[in-house]
Amino acid sequence: MKITAVKGFSDIFPGEVETWQWVEQKAREIFATYCFAEIRIPILEKTELFSRSLGETTDIVEKEMYTFADQDAKGSLLTLRPEGTAGVVRAYVESEMYKIEPVRKLYYMGPMFRRERPQKGRLRQFHQIGVEALGRSDPLVDVEVLLLLDDFFQAVGLESTSLQLNSLGCVDCRPVFRELLLAFLKEREEVLCGNCRRRVERNPLRALDCKEQRCNEATKNAPSILDSLCEACRRHFAIVRQSLAKAGVDYTLNPRMVRGLDYYCRTTFEWTSGQLGAQNAVAAGGRYDGLVQELGGPPIPGVGFAMGVERLTLLLRTKETEKEAGPTLYVVWVGARARDWAFPLVHRLRRRGLKIEMEGEPRSLKSQMRRADKLRAASVLIVGDDELDREKLVVRNMANKQQQEIHLKDLEIELMSRKAT
Ligand code: ATP
Ligand code: MG
Repeated sequence: MKITAVKGFSDIFPGEVETWQWVEQKAREIFATYCFAEIRIPILEKTELFSRSLGETTDIVEKEMYTFADQDAKGSLLTLRPEGTAGVVRAYVESEMYKIEPVRKLYYMGPMFRRERPQKGRLRQFHQIGVEALGRSDPLVDVEVLLLLDDFFQAVGLESTSLQLNSLGCVDCRPVFRELLLAFLKEREEVLCGNCRRRVERNPLRALDCKEQRCNEATKNAPSILDSLCEACRRHFAIVRQSLAKAGVDYTLNPRMVRGLDYYCRTTFEWTSGQLGAQNAVAAGGRYDGLVQELGGPPIPGVGFAMGVERLTLLLRTKETEKEAGPTLYVVWVGARARDWAFPLVHRLRRRGLKIEMEGEPRSLKSQMRRADKLRAASVLIVGDDELDREKLVVRNMANKQQQEIHLKDLEIELMSRKAT
């Protein structure tokens, strides 16, 4: 009986993993120029971390988390992380990083887990690359995070993306908006979907980005949060918008975009792609000034985003990026003497960074040549008794089929000169 993978969990095979590695490398390069450093946090956390930071009434906490009992501590629960921000902030608070330097710009990459309905661009184990800038409340750092993302998209050649921008206000002005919206929704409560009706008191804002058609209709003329912003939030948002415009980044204002998680305030954004169909958000994020304190730290602000790597690579694959590279050299050997001579040579050259392959079992010359072709080797080195006696080996270029004789004493230097840079 075959054992299959868990539904919604998928493998990433050679051939596609190259796109992933390339994306990750580009992210590392660009994030470093903005002075973000990598942090690696656990995949498993105490459930409480997520219920407290994301909010009890969010989809993730209500129904999507992989949670189970901690056998080491009676009554306590553990959860596979559904997102990265909570863990990063937990690590920041727990390590008291802020005592040395409150401003920390961090990034992470890795798997996240949500029990959602699997479909194209939506998995139960998916991967995010995200950044968190902690310790700065100025609007320019919001802009930095957006520019970093814009630079990244350009570097990987992602086209037709669009940025949607909103401000969710702060602890001073959002409650005012909340009341306005609640009053508006109360008048139309009976047309809202069950979910929105159930959480209208606790989380009325969610009705604005509910995916149900009826909620969409019902909230068409709802008050806009942008009209409720206090003076400080208004100023903050104006600088974000001006700076983006100056940097040449186009965006659309979307006052209905409230984001799924409770911890957001002020600047929030979503980057979508027209090529993705229903699951069109590639990256999303915003400011979360209360979160560090909520998780037991001092009042330190933060802003960040997370992007979905599956959705990104889906877009890049339709553009056909580079595939797995073949070996620089494939060693074809005939006879035990040739094998015993070639094996240590291969080891030496690999240690010097050359990508080489050779077989362990005797095979015909023809079948080894076929194999070299299949692996897309750049060149083939042919070794047999005859070659070793004459101290002259043949190297065949697989692209133009030209053969070259090389003297044994020049061999390593000659082969090393082929190393891909
Ligand atoms: P969506 O509206 O598509 O459900 P979200 O608002 O739940 O997205 P976030 O929690 O902000 O998404 O995560 C940021 C990014 O992570 C998304 O824009 C998306 O690219 C990716 N992502 C989120 N959930 C999944 C999933 N189940 N499978 C694949 N990628 C995902
Ligand atoms: Mg979601």
